[in-house]
Amino acid sequence: MAEISCANCGEDTELLGERTGPNNENITVTCQVCGLVWDRDFTPRCETCGETNVYPAFKAILDKSRGTQLSIQSMKLVHLCPHCQPELHATYSQTNTPIPPDELPVETDD
Ligand SMILES: [Zn+2]
Ligand SMILES: [Zn+2]
Repeated sequence: MAEISCANCGEDTELLGERTGPNNENITVTCQVCGLVWDRDFTPRCETCGETNVYPAFKAILDKSRGTQLSIQSMKLVHLCPHCQPELHATYSQTNTPIPPDELPVETDD
C-alpha cells in the first residue's frame, strides 16, 4: 500500500479506509485524529469535465444531528475545477478557508 497521510494534520497511521462506490472501486479514507474525510482517488479530476488540474480544498461537513446548533463536525477533501467552479476555485486558492457545505440545514420558525 502506498503511503498516504492526512492532508489536514499529517497523520499517517490512524487512518480508516472504507471501500465505496457501486463496484467498491473507490476508497474513502477517514482520519481518526482530525476527522478529515477524503476519497483515495489516484488521479483527482473534475467529475463534470474531466479536468485534472484541479485544486484540493477542504469542505466543511456540518453536524445536523444536534438540535439547532451548527457545528463543523468534520471536513472532506474535494477538488475544485477552474472551469466548472471558477468562483470557488479563485476564492479558495486565495483564502484557503474551508468551503461551506452544499446544503445548509433549513431554518424553521417553529
Ligand atoms: Zn487528520
Ligand atoms: Zn470541470
